[in-house]
Amino acid sequence: MKNCQHVIRHANLITCQDNGNPYGLIEDGALAIDQGKIIWVGKSILCPYQGTKEVNAKGQLVSPALIDCHTHLVFAGNRANEFAMRLTGTSYEEIAQNGGGILSTVQATREATLDDLVSLSLPRAMDLRSQGVLTIEIKSGYGLDLETEIKMLKAARTLALKAQIDVKTTLLAAHAVPPEYKENRSSYIDLICQEIIPEVSRQGLADAVDAFCEGIGFSVAETRRVFDAAARWGLPVKLHADQLSDLSGSTLVAEYGGLSADHVEYASEKGVKAMAKSDTIATLLPYAFYALQEKNKPPVSWFRKHGVDMAIATDCNPGTAPTTNLHQCLHMACTLFGLTTEEAILGVTRNAAKALALEHKKGQIDIGFDGTILLWNFKDPAELVYWQGHHRPQIIHTYSNTQI
Ligand SMILES: [Zn+2]
Repeated sequence: MKNCQHVIRHANLITCQDNGNPYGLIEDGALAIDQGKIIWVGKSILCPYQGTKEVNAKGQLVSPALIDCHTHLVFAGNRANEFAMRLTGTSYEEIAQNGGGILSTVQATREATLDDLVSLSLPRAMDLRSQGVLTIEIKSGYGLDLETEIKMLKAARTLALKAQIDVKTTLLAAHAVPPEYKENRSSYIDLICQEIIPEVSRQGLADAVDAFCEGIGFSVAETRRVFDAAARWGLPVKLHADQLSDLSGSTLVAEYGGLSADHVEYASEKGVKAMAKSDTIATLLPYAFYALQEKNKPPVSWFRKHGVDMAIATDCNPGTAPTTNLHQCLHMACTLFGLTTEEAILGVTRNAAKALALEHKKGQIDIGFDGTILLWNFKDPAELVYWQGHHRPQIIHTYSNTQI
């Protein structure tokens, strides 16, 4: 017997590997962890390791830690009033055109200090953590000026330490046109490309660049300028694409080899084919679809047909997805979009990792991967999707403190 730090035995182990079994299942499985990394995985009876800490899973489900690959969870204020307005018939576009929507959150976020933002956002991160979500992507995009975008990204990085989670940050300066640039959109794009992206990149505060390509957001031509600047600074891109209309955002982000096209309710088959070619993940955000009472579902059958992997995320934000319940989003992806329970679980593990360029580190139980593992108090993986946020896992190996 060889020694290591942790061994988990007798687990209904969903590795999320592509090993030919649903969920990459290993029945009566075991894994060994040392120095925060998985060093062995297989059948319990074959495990050659003895752990300083031994866990007998007693046949219960063991999974990789979950990943929420699309959130806006750093913000100040809230938009409960707009929720009430939408219930009386005002559309999201009308609210945005009247200075509400994203811009009301921008005002509150500009006024908040860095400490305010951290303390307001920490409960949201901790709530996700309690569900087994140990990696969270957090976007900026409620600052829309250099100072506040940087403040948001710093708040996101601080949350990683405070909540003991891994955070991937995304610069979303192209979320909306700020009021001071309303008559001069092109100058705002100049600011993003010539000042915000370079400075954020110099300070190492962003892992990717995102934009909101939409009629009420930015055009394809404007998004291209942002993506070209990201490329000059060596930052990968993702895109809020084809959410409310088909602007060919999916094709655009695929052209830049993007990590993910997100929302994608209106993606065309041409866009889906382009995503397949560039290995761009389709990130589905069922809570926003539900909250906006959208009718056009993302083209799941085309994603399957052309081999585009799907991720699922909360889209946690104060306007269109006031939720931190990733388990509920799994359930919704199945009931609203027709995903299988296996597709849903891969959407918050293996495929979510890929949407964050973490596919070799997170989202699977395999040798060399992150040793943060979840033990659930049930056996069947479908239970994770079936219940809407009821389960709280035991986190077997907590924060490894590894840089991602
Ligand atoms: Zn979003």
